[in-house]
Amino acid sequence: MAKTALIAGVSGQDGAYLSQLLLGRGYRVFGQVRCDAAAGKARLLELGIARDIEFVVLDLLNINEMRRELDKLCPDEIYNLAGSSSVAQSFDQPMIAVEINALAAARLLEALRHANFACRFFQASTSEMFGNAIASPQNESTPFRPRSPYAVAKVFAHWQTVSYRESYNFFGACGIMFNHESPLRSRRFVTRKITAELTEVKHGRRQRILLGNLGIQRDWGYARDYVDGMWRILQQQKPGDFVLATGISTSVRTFAERAAATLGMPLEWSGHGPSEVGIDRKSSRTVIEVSPTLFRPAEVVATVGDARRARSELAWRPSVDINGLIAMMVEADERRLLENRPLD
Ligand code: GDP
Repeated sequence: MAKTALIAGVSGQDGAYLSQLLLGRGYRVFGQVRCDAAAGKARLLELGIARDIEFVVLDLLNINEMRRELDKLCPDEIYNLAGSSSVAQSFDQPMIAVEINALAAARLLEALRHANFACRFFQASTSEMFGNAIASPQNESTPFRPRSPYAVAKVFAHWQTVSYRESYNFFGACGIMFNHESPLRSRRFVTRKITAELTEVKHGRRQRILLGNLGIQRDWGYARDYVDGMWRILQQQKPGDFVLATGISTSVRTFAERAAATLGMPLEWSGHGPSEVGIDRKSSRTVIEVSPTLFRPAEVVATVGDARRARSELAWRPSVDINGLIAMMVEADERRLLENRPLD
């Protein structure tokens, strides 16, 4: 019989790619959404799989509703990708991080503890939990030092999953995932903001783009690889926690420079700190400016992950490097712009 999976947070980048992967493997996929709005399905529509998913309207704040729904669906696997994935947003709306990123995980775990069916649970943990880490690269043993409401909430959900695993003979596993991007990334994140907005600059739809701290470094991978990692984590004999990362860190400045070069706008940098600008050497126009309003109250300066455990135990490895990722994102944004099919 086909396996069934419930994806909490199906409408995001990872939810879309994971749905596609599971459907391809013959799963019946239930997609949890907060409300049945078309807006939440843009990514699934772009992948052409919206009709293959059975949507479940479920409020993750309501444990009774959750229990009823889970008893009805009896999924073999649950992937908890729900909540806001934006660190920046969590400084403005910390209660969303607590309510959804932390407490929805707790409610799902508690509902599963009382369920009368066996179900494997995946928790989407994050490199943000390491904060300004005391060791580099970061692996499964690196201590957590969260620096944002988002990261604090994620640490809670992570430990709650570990605690249920250790207390109740429960298959709860976590992927400690470093930043992972794709053409389906929301424009709230810096990579997609850069590829989408520089594309608009190239095609005369905007003058320039504003960025925050250009010196920040992230270990950026390709989201499709990470959802494959999620699935592998749940297929193990024993539940565990795995870092998923490329092991290579790139600065926001370098990402922007390579994206601009891909679009035929070779950049030259001038100035320092908030006065730094990126100038298109061909047209001599300033196309990037720094805005201090985009700096965060507290920053994670650099992340770089050590995914050796995932490599050896899951046979997982990233398939796309940073240049391949940039090329893919720029290509998609240019195509969308020319076809007038925007994706936020
Ligand atoms: P995060 O690592 O999950 O917070 O992912 P983001 O893509 O939102 O941010 C990555 C890094 O880029 C953070 O350290 C930001 O401070 C930095 N950054 C610099 N400029 C920007 C910007 O304009 N927007 C965003 N979202 N981040 C920026």
